[in-house]
Amino acid sequence: KNFIIAIDGYSSCGKSTIAKALAKRLNFIYVDSGAMYRAATLYFLRNNIDCNNRDAIIEALENIHVELHLEDDYTQVLLNNEDVSEEIRLMPVSQNVSKVSAIKEVRQAMVKLQQKMGKTKNIVMDGRDIGTTVFPDAQLKVFMTAEPLIRAERRYKELKAKGDEVTVREVLDNLKERDLLDTTRQESPLRKADDAVILDNSHMNPEQQLEFVVNLYKN
Ligand code: C5P
Repeated sequence: KNFIIAIDGYSSCGKSTIAKALAKRLNFIYVDSGAMYRAATLYFLRNNIDCNNRDAIIEALENIHVELHLEDDYTQVLLNNEDVSEEIRLMPVSQNVSKVSAIKEVRQAMVKLQQKMGKTKNIVMDGRDIGTTVFPDAQLKVFMTAEPLIRAERRYKELKAKGDEVTVREVLDNLKERDLLDTTRQESPLRKADDAVILDNSHMNPEQQLEFVVNLYKN
């Protein structure tokens, strides 16, 4: 049977960094589930579909085709065959993605795709509901968290390096808002699975985090 590692947790706490490193170490495939919700959100923004308009979003869903191409240590995200890997990380998408991902029909479509990806391969998937809804039988589940200001500063540095004009305040407000929406939505809200191990990385570097999770895997 193939092995599934689910990494869930709050926004911007380094899930993808650790998930990628782990996949590389174990020779698993890394899947970024958030990228799928981000790509769908970008489609709505580009087509002037109001992200609060449930009906319009559900209707547009059938026009959205998202593909993840798994490169060595980077995921290429295709939205209707166009590479949107960079654009989905910017603030406009971050500011709207949690509204979109609260919609049941959006989640159903994405979860289906995600489950398909885990059918035949050993994977590390990061997200919000991987250990609770997408793969409740995952063999290893990690729930990541870190202090909000530390998360905001890390993300701010990343965005700045890419030339995005943001302030720490904006990044902090955005991640708090996403956490609130993600934990309070009706459809598979963000929460720790009962059998997930908590990893608070506020004061850990990536190497320490990787060792922590590799040890869980080995034991
Ligand atoms: O992981 P990332 O921050 O890129 O995810 C962006 C947003 O997508 C999250 O804030 C959340 O609203 C949504 N998401 C989700 N379920 C997942 C992954 C992401 O609802 N499995």
